[in-house]
Amino acid sequence: PVRTRFAPSPTGMLHIGSLRTALYNYLLAKNTRGQFLLRLEDTDQNRLIQGAEENIYDSLKWCGIEYDEGPGVNDEKFGPYRQSERTEIYQQHVDGLLKSGHAYRCFCSKERLDGLRESAKRLKPPTTVTYDRKCESLSQGEIEERLAQQIPHTIRLKAPERYPAFHDLLHGTVDIQPQVNVNDRRYDDPILIKSDNLPTYHFANVIDDHLMKITHVIRGEEWLPSTQKHIALYRAFGWDPPSFIHIPLLTSTNDKKLSKRRGDASVWNMKSNGILPEALVNFCVLFGWSPPRDLAAANHECFTLKEFERVFDLNYLTKGNAKVDDKKLWFFNKHYLQKKLENSQVFEEILQEVQTAARHKFGEKASDEKVAAVLKACGKSLTTVNEFNDTFYYFFEKPKYQDTEVATKFHATHKHADVVNILTHFKGTINQSNMDEMIKALASQAVPKKSIFESLRFALAGANPGTKIPILIQLLGPQEANQRIEEAIN
Ligand code: GLU
Repeated sequence: PVRTRFAPSPTGMLHIGSLRTALYNYLLAKNTRGQFLLRLEDTDQNRLIQGAEENIYDSLKWCGIEYDEGPGVNDEKFGPYRQSERTEIYQQHVDGLLKSGHAYRCFCSKERLDGLRESAKRLKPPTTVTYDRKCESLSQGEIEERLAQQIPHTIRLKAPERYPAFHDLLHGTVDIQPQVNVNDRRYDDPILIKSDNLPTYHFANVIDDHLMKITHVIRGEEWLPSTQKHIALYRAFGWDPPSFIHIPLLTSTNDKKLSKRRGDASVWNMKSNGILPEALVNFCVLFGWSPPRDLAAANHECFTLKEFERVFDLNYLTKGNAKVDDKKLWFFNKHYLQKKLENSQVFEEILQEVQTAARHKFGEKASDEKVAAVLKACGKSLTTVNEFNDTFYYFFEKPKYQDTEVATKFHATHKHADVVNILTHFKGTINQSNMDEMIKALASQAVPKKSIFESLRFALAGANPGTKIPILIQLLGPQEANQRIEEAIN
């Protein structure tokens, strides 16, 4: 069976790029009735951030992504699933490599290694591999002497002359070699165990993928250059590597790589901006994966997680960098928000949230009944629930007649005298039942209907779009409506 994993490092709030990686792994497993695992890669003690692990759980849960195995979930299978709890396993495996001669202990000091790195930079051509492999030739006696003195040391893989090329299901044959300088032989020899006795990413990742019987590794393209080191490790152990699929990075529309550290691209930040999980999932999956054309067209590209589970297929992954276009995200959000508002039970949940926020901002004026009426009548134009207060403020306080974008535009496109003329016609008398008649009467005097509606909208809602005039009058009530008309004239 297919077994995939999501292997985040708890080094910050979960980024939407990582969410997408999780989704592809999850979807491949679901689509093939395989298993999806969560493994925490937390061996880099210096980079751990408090709360990051919790945020991984919370974000996955919020998006509806469940894992078959993971910390606290079916641990007994191939667990533990937190790398910091697997140090003994790594120790045993590195012992095997030391015995077979694929790995060696390196006692070089930091100063020496820094010096080597500096000299490597000065070489022509410079080289990206810097170590001179000094410790590889230590005798058993020299090693034991240093161990007895407790000199800190690392364990390195004896890297092959050339790394083997490998096959990536998306990229085909990949053959990336580190740049070397033939006249001054240096070696890549990646560190497997650090001087704090903890494994490096490369080592733990390979051991775990093997022991956890992972069949497909879907991860970001930034790991492509690491993969040949991993393959070399699989060979050293005599293991078969899994299939690799390296997916393009998410970039924002201005082509910059979205940084993991920018709070604004984290799942949690999206959530607090009113993004719905359904929208975020839909959005993330479609960056780098496109459904068959006819299916996409039939759905207007809207897919729920369950729908994706049915149709996801590695063949439709795309190769180019995926440019993040926010517009799509808002489009999806509006779509899913509308669906929720149509469902009476969910409507009530959303309403409560909106009521609390409106009460907080407008106080008494935002009575529960009024907020409910506004949401019911006008919710259709919202993209996120968070916009409610700003979009519909004019139901709870006087609209602004100056200095807003819409008001300024209104003044620029309407003659004041005409507006006064139109509004005077309605002043003091308009209500829900006579409204249509009054508009008709004015229109028969050769006043364009468009100007009538726009002037009324200006008076009642400060020219804000989104709510029909009859609804404005209904929700404001005739008294408030007439008062606003009067104020707008003055
Ligand atoms: N811990 C790595 C990360 O945070 C995992 C990379 C991989 O999937 O191998 O991205």
